[in-house]
Amino acid sequence: MYTPFNKPYLTGKETFYIEEAVKSGKISGNGMFTQKCQAFFEKEYGFKKTLLTTSCTDALEMSAILLNIKEGDEVIIPSYTFVSTANAFVLRGAKVIFADSKPNHPNIDETKLESLITPKTKAIVVVHYAGVACEMDTIMDLADKYNLFVVEDAAQAIDSFYKGKPLGGIGHLSTFSFHETKNIQCGEGGLLAINDDRFVERAEIIWEKGTNRSAFFRGEIDKYGWVDIGSSFLPSDVTAAFLWAQLESLESIQAKRKSSWNYYKENLQFLEAYGVKLPITPEYATNNAHMFYLVCNSIEERSGIIAKLKEHDVSSVFHYLSLHKSPFYKDQYEGNELESSDRFTSTLLRLPLFYELSKEQMDFVIDKIRAFYEN
Ligand SMILES: *Cc1c(COP(=O)(O)O)cnc(C)c1O
Repeated sequence: MYTPFNKPYLTGKETFYIEEAVKSGKISGNGMFTQKCQAFFEKEYGFKKTLLTTSCTDALEMSAILLNIKEGDEVIIPSYTFVSTANAFVLRGAKVIFADSKPNHPNIDETKLESLITPKTKAIVVVHYAGVACEMDTIMDLADKYNLFVVEDAAQAIDSFYKGKPLGGIGHLSTFSFHETKNIQCGEGGLLAINDDRFVERAEIIWEKGTNRSAFFRGEIDKYGWVDIGSSFLPSDVTAAFLWAQLESLESIQAKRKSSWNYYKENLQFLEAYGVKLPITPEYATNNAHMFYLVCNSIEERSGIIAKLKEHDVSSVFHYLSLHKSPFYKDQYEGNELESSDRFTSTLLRLPLFYELSKEQMDFVIDKIRAFYEN
């Protein structure tokens, strides 16, 4: 039964809002839909200030600029993450200190962080893997103790919570992705959330090519010019119009994904008898159903399941390869072995999960996985 790994969902209102944006005559950045989307995040989740960006990658790059990261600074980042989390800081000359995952979850292991902090450490970047919160109280306490900044890479973490607090609202800065593989998407898109007042004004300037144009358009100053470094980080209002259609349907999208996620979880329990681990949601976290994954016993076992599913036209994929072992970084890496990150690199398997995934498709996937283990 043909089952892709992902199928980006369309609510049906996207082209309607895009047409509205086009007819308004203003489709450059910071238009009506951009402001509607930003207001949504500020109201719904209480983020102090948000700026739409062309990607989460861009929002991460803005974070590195805002934190004044420079040559000689150290930034602690999990090894088990997407390249952009590290790249944004490497671009500013930082030395990345890679941290391991928890033994039972791909998230950064907060119990091992303190030993990575040196006088050169400037920031800790956490990634809420699969939309499940890192242990933020411990991480924020460490940041307080050593006077560090915390950036949440919340690319996968829209509408998810830590002890009742929305993810993306805890660190000094945080970043979201609306890439087509994420719960809420606009093809390519992102968001920077600024939770610390000290960064609000400068964030707008960096967003607008290093100019104070946003303040000018609000009538706060009578001419605008070059006041800082920056780049073109803001998306067209066409992109924002698309995103607005998705945000309007956030609740139903999340409900549908969660019901599929729960269906997998209930019907794959039998795997535990084979030593396969199902995703866990710690007590302090919620699950936003971004991803359903299995942790297999070995890389051979994982390859076997991928092949079995592929035989039946089902696409399942593995995920990150530890960044400290990547072709770009492995020769400069000086740290310890990162056992958990390496284990997830070779054993984590993601199953198809998207809005339109049917119960029949899930039953089919579950059956094929069962057949693999029963043989
Ligand atoms: C998807 C993702 C990104 C990159 O998002 P883009 O919007 O494609 O730039 C960064 N970090 C994590 C953890 C992601 O999952």
